[in-house]
Amino acid sequence: MPELPEVETVRQGLLPAMKGKSLVKLELNRKNLRFDFDSDLAATLEGKQIADIERRSKYLLMHFHSVKDQQTLIGHLGMSGKFTIFSHNEAKMREKQKHDHVVFYLDDGTEIVYNDPRRFGFLVLADQGDWQSHKLIRDIGPEPLTDDFDAAHLAKKSAGKNGNIKNHLLNQKIVAGLGNIYVCEALFRAKIDPTYPAGILTTKAGKPSKVCTKLVPIIKDILAEAIEAGGSTLNDYRQADGNLGYFQHRFVAYGREGDDCVSDKCKDKIIRIVQSGRSTFYCPSCQK
Ligand SMILES: [Zn+2]
Repeated sequence: MPELPEVETVRQGLLPAMKGKSLVKLELNRKNLRFDFDSDLAATLEGKQIADIERRSKYLLMHFHSVKDQQTLIGHLGMSGKFTIFSHNEAKMREKQKHDHVVFYLDDGTEIVYNDPRRFGFLVLADQGDWQSHKLIRDIGPEPLTDDFDAAHLAKKSAGKNGNIKNHLLNQKIVAGLGNIYVCEALFRAKIDPTYPAGILTTKAGKPSKVCTKLVPIIKDILAEAIEAGGSTLNDYRQADGNLGYFQHRFVAYGREGDDCVSDKCKDKIIRIVQSGRSTFYCPSCQK
């Protein structure tokens, strides 16, 4: 499942292919993905120019402009969604693949295909481009890579919380876009036991604890490193097959059950536990 860094990489890949181009035709090969398509989706967007593509949490925000109005298409990749870019020349030879649900035809001949076998992804219009108040987005917490997400914010949201810190960090109202993989990686690097109560992030006086001031920059670093790694693969990857956003990161905790802990001098192995139905990977010697 793509998390924030993968979605950011997709955004960076789509941007040069789409920005400033006009949408000639929007092909919808079904009536829905996770949600029904807006009934007037194609008619609303066709003829408009793609002014920009932004990201909020794990949502892509495609801004379509015309002289008359502005619309924002909110996109989510779900479990298996992917965009593939076909240049003018490549598009001539493109063969329709199973699960190609949406195709964006641009005025320079570029075709951008959205393929999603499991169909947990979606594309929905924000009313009059007002994506900030869309119900999917309005309650999301601060972006982790902005100054709005800092130790003071996390401490405030964690005061008196008895639930475990792992699930706490997955709560999108506290911080945007963190998922299972990067929470496991951040807790490993910060040497925090994922079963600890979230309240350890806050002192009795309501200030950030030492654990909190250590964790916040680690979360930022881990996400920034993954975005950097994704960006550096982008050119090669696009040349290979045009797919965006699915590249193999190397993780030190996530997915490594039974493997040796990578920390210096640690002789323990990574274990897996289940918290709220989701796997957590950690080193019981380093993270305590
Ligand atoms: Zn260890």
